[in-house]
Amino acid sequence: MKTKLGLLYGGKSAEHQVSLQTARSVINALDLEKFEIHPIYINVEGAWIKGPQLSGSVEEVKALEFSQGHSLSPLSLAPSFQDTQQEAAPLDVIFPLLHGPNGEDGTVQGLLELLNLPYVGNGVLASAAGMDKVMMKNVFAQAGLAQVNYVAFIKSEWAKAKEESYTKIEAELGYPCFVKPANLGSSVGISKCTDRAELEAAFVEAFQFDRKVIVEEGVTAREIEIAVLGNDEPECSVAGEIVPKKDFYDYKAKYEDGDTALIIPADVTEKEYEQLREMAIRAFKALDCSGLVRADFFLTKDGKALINEVNTMPGFTPVSMFPLLWKHTGVEYPQLIERLVDLAKERHAEKQ
Ligand code: ATP
Ligand code: MG
Ligand code: MG
Ligand code: MG
Repeated sequence: MKTKLGLLYGGKSAEHQVSLQTARSVINALDLEKFEIHPIYINVEGAWIKGPQLSGSVEEVKALEFSQGHSLSPLSLAPSFQDTQQEAAPLDVIFPLLHGPNGEDGTVQGLLELLNLPYVGNGVLASAAGMDKVMMKNVFAQAGLAQVNYVAFIKSEWAKAKEESYTKIEAELGYPCFVKPANLGSSVGISKCTDRAELEAAFVEAFQFDRKVIVEEGVTAREIEIAVLGNDEPECSVAGEIVPKKDFYDYKAKYEDGDTALIIPADVTEKEYEQLREMAIRAFKALDCSGLVRADFFLTKDGKALINEVNTMPGFTPVSMFPLLWKHTGVEYPQLIERLVDLAKERHAEKQ
């Protein structure tokens, strides 16, 4: 029997376009002998729109942006609701292909829990804690993971005491430092600051995206990433290195310029890889992750790894780091999707 797979994509976050690219890639890679594809588009206003069942590949990302026509109440996805409405059989698994707030942050995961639907990837807690860089770093600190120093600010507190905020950063972190919205991804709203003027501008920028901002000590280091896959017994991919052509790996370098080099496998020693692998697993377990994460590290000149973050729904097109890392580890893109669906079913079955 085919798996009825609901694909949730789009979303209200600043990573809407990235999600559309991911959805197109996943649809085109799915084996139609094994899956029935049910697209559910979330538009930029946050409305859920049910698309037609897809029976082939999608050429244009635009074709996945459905109009308001078939507006869907998220609650109608509940298997019990679908039975009483005598619609098509309930969906077997939902794959939330969503990045950023309202998708990668536990909100959608909470909804799917209430609906009792199996879904791919991390649960409520891991998604929420992984989306908030301050919470994530607090958990990592508790787990004894090495990382850069950081300070957090709430918008209203900062607005009342800007001078003190900047002085604190200069005293505790110094320059360069990185200012980031606490809850986001794809480098949206992130600035590297080398002086007070840049710091002031960076706060204004970051607060456009969140009411909480994190400021981190800037490090000069290689950027290495590891993909983790599994539930209670997660496995690691080979390591990959990101070499941005610019100052840092910003939104443009990620999605527009395309000239950032991804080196897989990364040229790291056995000892460095072992350190990264162990830290990736420890981070996965510390946040109680399931399904997948991409763990991002800094590797300093003297071979010390610092964890930067984990992404609970990493970029997922065939040219994104997470699938590429698995490809080099021996798992091709279509198999990776199937493995994630199986992990979702497995985790759901354990809860019943
Ligand atoms: P994504 O979720 O797409 O990986 P993000 O928005 O969560 O990105 P980060 O990974 O935290 O953002 O940072 C983006 C990039 O900024 C990093 O890949 C790195 O190039 C640079 N960067 C971030 N923090 C630091 C730091 N403390 N020191 C040096 N470089 C940094
Ligand atoms: Mg991130
Ligand atoms: Mg991200
Ligand atoms: Mg990152």
